[in-house]
Amino acid sequence: MATTNGAVENGQPDRKSPTLPRPVRNLEVKFTKTLETMDTGKPFLHAFFIDLEGCIKTLRYFAGWADKIQGRTIPTDDNVVCFTRHEPIGVCGAITPWNFPLLMLVWKLAPALCCGNTVVVKPAEQTPLTALYLGSLIKEVGFPPGVVNIVPGFGPTVGAAISSHPQINKIAFTGSTEVGKLVKEAASHSNLKRVTLELGGKNPCIVCADADLDLAVECAHQGVFFNQGQCCTAASRVFVEEQVYDEFVRRSVEFAKKRPIGDPFDIRTEQGPQIDQKQFNKILDLIESGKKEGAKLEYGGSAMEDRGLFIKPTVFSEVTDTMRIAKEEIFGPVQPILKFKNIEEVIKRANSLEYGLTAAVFTKNLDKALKLASALESGTVWINCYNAIYAQAPFGGFKMSGNGRELGEYALAEYTEVKTVTIKLDDKDP
Ligand code: ADP
Repeated sequence: MATTNGAVENGQPDRKSPTLPRPVRNLEVKFTKTLETMDTGKPFLHAFFIDLEGCIKTLRYFAGWADKIQGRTIPTDDNVVCFTRHEPIGVCGAITPWNFPLLMLVWKLAPALCCGNTVVVKPAEQTPLTALYLGSLIKEVGFPPGVVNIVPGFGPTVGAAISSHPQINKIAFTGSTEVGKLVKEAASHSNLKRVTLELGGKNPCIVCADADLDLAVECAHQGVFFNQGQCCTAASRVFVEEQVYDEFVRRSVEFAKKRPIGDPFDIRTEQGPQIDQKQFNKILDLIESGKKEGAKLEYGGSAMEDRGLFIKPTVFSEVTDTMRIAKEEIFGPVQPILKFKNIEEVIKRANSLEYGLTAAVFTKNLDKALKLASALESGTVWINCYNAIYAQAPFGGFKMSGNGRELGEYALAEYTEVKTVTIKLDDKDP
């Protein structure tokens, strides 16, 4: 994710200190508990500098749009005045995930409100606290009752009720591709409400032999291990050109070994526990599949012996396209590294899955970068950076990674109906 400054600004980690964002390295900071860290187990500094900062920037950005939602005047070949109005859709549903609970909510709430809609929010059942706290702040600042409604609950009950409600006119969902299909199905079986979906990813991160290897190794590392690997943007298929493959693997293992794991409230911590037992089991099952299917385990490969839901940062080399760890979304701290020989080949392999959320390319060659940027089938392509996400720039997926876009001016179209008004003028001279 993009931050105001520090560790991952423009997707570039702090090269000197990969473990601490710049603004806090020299500060004496005593942090008390925060809701997002308590709820998710993510490191406090990440919650503070990435999630919270992202929320503030998104709210500010869309607040700026609130008085700029305007239509067009359209010339025709008839004696009419024709113009469009961009009107609110009405009641919008928002169903959010547990990996960035507040940020994903704000990505939906901010554009919905600035376009004049009301919202019914269902936070993920694992992580409802920040949404509820935001609700109390919304009440405190005096929003009219009914504008923002927060309804905690489970997916098949509350989530399904929102997706199929006849008086909810639009739904924005972030979560798994599997549930995204259910949401779209419920929308089409009820009132054909507008649907935007931000779903899974199995994102290629392509490292060419001419890349700045220090940068590529560090970005690929942060790209996959950030947020305990629980990111739809995770760099979970790292394709490395054969000339630099062995060196890339060696350096990636060094990084994985140094990743500080532990108490999320300790400011040195980079990795906390996985969200719950179900995800923990799924990740370990995928790790086992990697071992069985012949990938080379370079580091990690198991849970931390002495702790609950912590998993060792895991690096696999000699991964091939048909292995489960190269095809399935892992959503955990596992880095599969694959080898490629040339650009045509890697484009084909990168595009071979049903997902298309993000892709990253590391090269110093501009022609190569632009060729890959246009050939990769994904909603975002990062060149020489990772997780560079900005409130101003649209985010969303190609193929089964989603429908529609969040953030940026593009998001406004998802929260407005366009009305064409045509006024026939009198043909007689006045
Ligand atoms: P994950 O598998 O990572 O938990 P999900 O896609 O299951 O992700 O969950 C994302 C959000 O979707 C959560 O808020 C969850 O409660 C909700 N959800 C789950 N099942 C349904 C459903 N059938 N209809 C609507 N929302 C659902």
